[in-house]
Amino acid sequence: MDAEKKIKLLRERLEYYSAKYYQEDAPEISDAEYDSMMKELMSLEKEHPSLRSAESPSEKVGGSYSKKFAEYVHRVPLLSLSNAFSYEELLEFDQKIRERCGDISYCVELKIDGLSVALEYKKGKFIHGATRGNGQQGENVTDNLNEIVTIPKELNQKVDLVVRGEVFLPKDRFLKLNEQQEDLGLPLFANPRNAASGSLRQLDSNITKDRNLDIFIFNVQEWMDNSDKEKEQELNSHSKQLNYLDDLGFKTISPREHCESMEKVIEFIKYWTEHREELLFDIDGIVIKVDELNKREILGQTAKAPRWAIAYKFPAEQKETTIEAITVQVGRTGVLTPIAELTPVLISGSTVSRATLHNEDYIAMKDIRVGDRVIVQKAGEIIPEVHAVMKDKRDGTEVVFHMPHTCPSCGAATQKIDGEVAVKCTNFACPAQLKRRMIHFVSKSAMDIDNFGPSIVSSLYENGLIKNIADIYLLKEKDLLQLNGFAKKSASNLISSINHSKSRNLNQLLVALGIDFVGEKAAKVLSKNFSSLEELEKANLDDLMRIEEIGLKTAQSILNYFQLEENRAVLERLVEYGVNTKSISGTDQNSSKVFSGKKFVLTGTLEGMKRSEAKKIIETCGGEVMSAVSTSVDYLLAGDSPGSKLKKAQELNIPILTKDEFLVMVNE
Ligand code: NAD
Repeated sequence: MDAEKKIKLLRERLEYYSAKYYQEDAPEISDAEYDSMMKELMSLEKEHPSLRSAESPSEKVGGSYSKKFAEYVHRVPLLSLSNAFSYEELLEFDQKIRERCGDISYCVELKIDGLSVALEYKKGKFIHGATRGNGQQGENVTDNLNEIVTIPKELNQKVDLVVRGEVFLPKDRFLKLNEQQEDLGLPLFANPRNAASGSLRQLDSNITKDRNLDIFIFNVQEWMDNSDKEKEQELNSHSKQLNYLDDLGFKTISPREHCESMEKVIEFIKYWTEHREELLFDIDGIVIKVDELNKREILGQTAKAPRWAIAYKFPAEQKETTIEAITVQVGRTGVLTPIAELTPVLISGSTVSRATLHNEDYIAMKDIRVGDRVIVQKAGEIIPEVHAVMKDKRDGTEVVFHMPHTCPSCGAATQKIDGEVAVKCTNFACPAQLKRRMIHFVSKSAMDIDNFGPSIVSSLYENGLIKNIADIYLLKEKDLLQLNGFAKKSASNLISSINHSKSRNLNQLLVALGIDFVGEKAAKVLSKNFSSLEELEKANLDDLMRIEEIGLKTAQSILNYFQLEENRAVLERLVEYGVNTKSISGTDQNSSKVFSGKKFVLTGTLEGMKRSEAKKIIETCGGEVMSAVSTSVDYLLAGDSPGSKLKKAQELNIPILTKDEFLVMVNE
């Protein structure tokens, strides 16, 4: 592959993995893998300066911000850090710095694996807090930060300043959270960092509260205009500033050390490389910062990172093994995923015998072949991966892999979709797809059928009790009692959950059907624009394309879905068994527009109504739910034990609704 092509491919893949990591909190590859792709991109860009671009992921702060929160503009940008992966790189960094500014010392800190936030204090009171976002703009998550007990709400002095810190989830709480996710049939978080990010970026601050997040503060980001200038000058080093933050009542980064030389820094790194497992939280490296603030000014910064600091990243734990075979797994939408079947090896305490190879492009980019000796790694995450191929160990017997032209589950023809890397099985009745589709149908984000986990679906399917989603509604207690692990009570509970799910709104049903490109957002848009599934079925391409939020790909996928005879037969049966196919919002103007354009904030416990239900009603009626009270909010819906939002709404004269008043408005 020539350099230009490789740079393009690497940039595209890095942007893709970045979106998964920052926007969805669901990384597909490990950080070490991401870092090694970034390193390759940077060295290619260095070799070919004419191919450099300010838009390359190597030149920007990664990440973005979601519109579901109010925007917060960082007056002082929250930058990223440059990386070093070896002691040689650190010694080079040290040499360059000393050449530019003479004698310096370092403050060395643990690199906490969490997410960065800025906290703003006025007269010693915590007033706003935001995520890093793209470095310039972040998400205002003040209410959620208020739920972190280690963030002081009032400082020991009445100072005006902005500090920066890392919000994280301690290891034991991470394990507990994933246990709960598993019990609820929800997807697991890949690592504590993603769990922390997912927990802080919630619309309901009660969820954040339950997650028990923690924080370490590691920087004074900004002294405000009316701050104590004398104090500011006296604190002329980073270490002095951190000590001052300690005095103010912050939980500052610890342990940290002041080091006169890079050799001392390396000793600190060596110690923590060996002892990191003893910490109660995850670290992914060590941050080395020039301590003297006047020297920092000489060094300056790039658009992405300061030149006076560097992050040493711990190497991932790696082992050598052999790829014995590459098998292919079929997903819900028919996408084929190649899997490396490995000679089992023990890494970070667990046996690794399989690793996803994502798609054919990934295999080609890494030139992975069956029979290769490979380095497999696990960088503290759950998902192991093939890091590198040991090409010098090849003896010529290795076999190049090609995606099969027929589906490994049903034998039907496979197809490469234009413009996508994925190859798909085209048979709608493919058993592997059917099973995964049913697992999706009953899941939390779809029909939300309680007590119906993936293993129950699998065992019902394997025992021939369900063949497609419609069969779920024909299940009887006696069917369940044939399976291991079911008793009278659990069987009756599951049947009643199944019956309960018949009244789900149209948008949930649309998600559950698993139509390509129809996720939660598109399903909501469709159920606002069509009063029923039957009406959507009759829509043509023009009708769908007239809807602003629906693109061509989605429109075509919807048409394809309804064209398939098998789908129409299943839908008819769902209607016959009493599954709701109507939209409560529908196109009925009277019911859908009661809260059109209105912004709500929810607080406290609403008797007999979950917050998620209240949110659904507001959205169905054209309104929007915000996380924080501000002057742009129209109503505060307050239940029992309302907390600080109520006080703020009263101060801003925002109308406060009880649940009953709210329901009267809805019925109007
Ligand atoms: P980074 O995580 O490498 O370093 C910068 C961050 O370190 C800062 O934003 C800060 O929040 C944090 N930090 C923790 N302790 C600190 C301390 N004591 N002092 C200063 N900062 C401290 O860089 P990034 O820009 O936040 O993220 C890029 C990294 O994220 C990549 O190197 C990669 O590891 C990971 N990533 C992974 C994927 C994936 O798919 N796995 C995708 C995108 C990014």
